[in-house]
Amino acid sequence: MIESSPPPLEDSKRAVETPASAAREGGSREEARSGAPPAVEVVSWSEELPWLVQGVTTRGSSAGHSDGRGELDLRLSGEVPVRATLDRWTFLTEALAMESVVVARQPHGPTVRTHRLAAPGIHIAPDCDGHLTRDPGLLLAVTVGDCVPVFLVAPGQRLVALLHAGWRGIAAGILERGIHAFEERFGIDPDELLVHLGPAICGSCYEVGPEVHRALHLPDPGRPIPLDLRAILWERAARAGVPPERIGASAYCTVEDPRFFSHRGGDLGRQVAYLGVRAGGDR
Ligand SMILES: [Zn+2]
Repeated sequence: MIESSPPPLEDSKRAVETPASAAREGGSREEARSGAPPAVEVVSWSEELPWLVQGVTTRGSSAGHSDGRGELDLRLSGEVPVRATLDRWTFLTEALAMESVVVARQPHGPTVRTHRLAAPGIHIAPDCDGHLTRDPGLLLAVTVGDCVPVFLVAPGQRLVALLHAGWRGIAAGILERGIHAFEERFGIDPDELLVHLGPAICGSCYEVGPEVHRALHLPDPGRPIPLDLRAILWERAARAGVPPERIGASAYCTVEDPRFFSHRGGDLGRQVAYLGVRAGGDR
């Protein structure tokens, strides 16, 4: 059955802005992209960095992608037929006109791997939560379902990195490792980077215990209280040397916004954040 297209953005957006994220939204407004795959993307980057391929997939609908089997669930674990998984990842890669895609099992650690464009297709890298590349045509991907996808772009050099950041990864230093990878491997200073913190569970929905607050070197609240992972990442990026005006955050909450899969919301499915340099020139 073909259903009607997804509701307009304004209808499904609802009151999902977190005060912390919204106040810090440095030109990182996201909108649904036109065409396949169903996704939201950073509007200012689409306009100013046309060589960049960036976004976070949404559930879509049966009309939203090619396999006609409903939602665009891109999880890589659990009971999903391999064929369906491969079909969806191939659809994602081809719809974005990229030659290959790299993704990994994400152990919530600090490892960031640099990738080169190799054979076309879908590549599963050794376990890691961060990917970096300078090769056009190679799409970086992380699967997310409440954790924060962190987009890092060096626009002058056209280098990109994509991180998967939950509280464990943040505590392990994934953000700092990602930022420093640009410096160590390519001589790019943090103040040359653009950072975007994508759709994730918001500070109102994410109530976590004292052990999480302690792990992040926050005051021990003595009881479970809400935590805004994007606000923490924003502050850590600024401390690592990224100028505040170059750090933006999504206003979308994966728990509240029905377009996204949410782990805490009970979904087994996962969306994918993706980032790459377009193959073959500026367009
Ligand atoms: Zn929320």
